[in-house]
Amino acid sequence: MSTSRKITIVGGGQSGLQLGCGLLSNGYEVDIVQNRTAEQVRSGKVLSSQCMFDAALQNERDLGLNFWDKECPTVDSINFVVPAPDGSGNKAIDWNGKLDKPGQSVDQRVKIPRWMEEFERRGGTITILDAGIDDLERYAKQSELVIVAAGKGEIAKLFERDAKKSPFDKPQRALALTYVNGMLPRADHSAVNFNLIPTVGEYFVFPALTVNGPCEIMVFEGIPGGPMDCWKDVKTPDEHLAKSKWILDTFLPWEADRNRNVSLTDDNGILAGAFAPTVRKPVGRLPSGAVVLGMADAVCLNDPITGQGSNNASKSAKTYMDAIVEHGDRPYDAAFMQATFDSYWNYAQFVTGWTNALLQPPPPHVLNIMGSAQAFPVLAKRIANGFNDPRDFFPWFAVPEEADAYLGRLAA
Ligand SMILES: Cc1cc2nc3c(=O)[nH]c(=O)nc-3n(C[C@H](O)[C@H](O)[C@H](O)COP(=O)(O)OP(=O)(O)OC[C@H]3O[C@@H](n4cnc5c(N)ncnc54)[C@H](O)[C@@H]3O)c2cc1C
Repeated sequence: MSTSRKITIVGGGQSGLQLGCGLLSNGYEVDIVQNRTAEQVRSGKVLSSQCMFDAALQNERDLGLNFWDKECPTVDSINFVVPAPDGSGNKAIDWNGKLDKPGQSVDQRVKIPRWMEEFERRGGTITILDAGIDDLERYAKQSELVIVAAGKGEIAKLFERDAKKSPFDKPQRALALTYVNGMLPRADHSAVNFNLIPTVGEYFVFPALTVNGPCEIMVFEGIPGGPMDCWKDVKTPDEHLAKSKWILDTFLPWEADRNRNVSLTDDNGILAGAFAPTVRKPVGRLPSGAVVLGMADAVCLNDPITGQGSNNASKSAKTYMDAIVEHGDRPYDAAFMQATFDSYWNYAQFVTGWTNALLQPPPPHVLNIMGSAQAFPVLAKRIANGFNDPRDFFPWFAVPEEADAYLGRLAA
């Protein structure tokens, strides 16, 4: 294999930097084009809650990118709650499933600047530029392969939306993040505390590491037009925190009780926004006819309801790295690009399918599964560990007859 093939990656986020560092370790020449400096990322706004589970973290460990194992609190379980529909403030469903191995969330404001430094230390070059189509044309001439890992950046629109794989053309949730200190810890082990409020939305919260140490990240997923779609008039960080607390006071008293003394980690520890989940065709054709390959969110963007985007980004970076290395000296043509995405999609289709299903009102068999997990700890554990590898949800989570058969076996 040649050890000097040149690859340009546009976008230095979770997937771009992970792939870039991995390729450098395999002897490739890699440039990353990134539209924010390390300092801008560090001092900018949060963009994610980035909870990652073991398989995705393992990809980072394999590349020596796990710099925060000791400082970052662990996420040890998934806790699932549905409030009683009668407004009594009781819980209709409440179960906890332990993760076989813990998850972790390192604020991207911490991770990305450190990875940029590491990427350069390994011999990569970073160009700070908001790349447009003309720049891609130039990179396509200068390098053998151009990968676009620009996340939700505008440039991802060069990849055609794949209508067959994208059931939604509008945002399905009003999203918000609130990074806080001072939350009461859970009584036992840590968890992603996931609360599903029918017809209103979802709230989940878990420990993480941010710019000034450990914190908790609140994630709000409001059904459009409902009471949790409430961020448009929020103007200041204080108002954002107050609105977060109002949601918990109104719908989730057990979560509100943990939040009597919380404060924002910093004024940038907040976010509100919305986007349509979208899968795109992975081969982008530039006006000159040159082709570029899309990776992670740029071509497979899911709603954060299942907390999978960074996990997907890690897994796609790993799949792409393996494909590039295995490809040896052969040209990176459109067929290679399509095949590389397809091998990622073999996995990601299940993540996308599961995530899109959770954006819909739950059908009876899903309610049955989620309720039964309270009676069957083995089921609770299986659902929890499905966050690490959502392929395990299929077919029993998706197909009513399979769900009935599986629950029947558990009961027997
Ligand atoms: C509210 C919210 C909560 C989330 N919570 C979780 C969670 O708990 N767990 C989880 O796994 N995922 C979560 N995610 C998703 C996760 O953050 C993303 O899926 C992940 O960061 C995607 O990685 P990426 O490499 O594709 O893109 P990104 O990490 O977004 O990186 C893209 C990079 O490209 C740069 N860029 C963009 N355009 C250009 C351009 N034209 N030129 C140069 N550079 C460019 C950007 O500045 C950025 O640095 C969440 C997302 C949101 C919105």
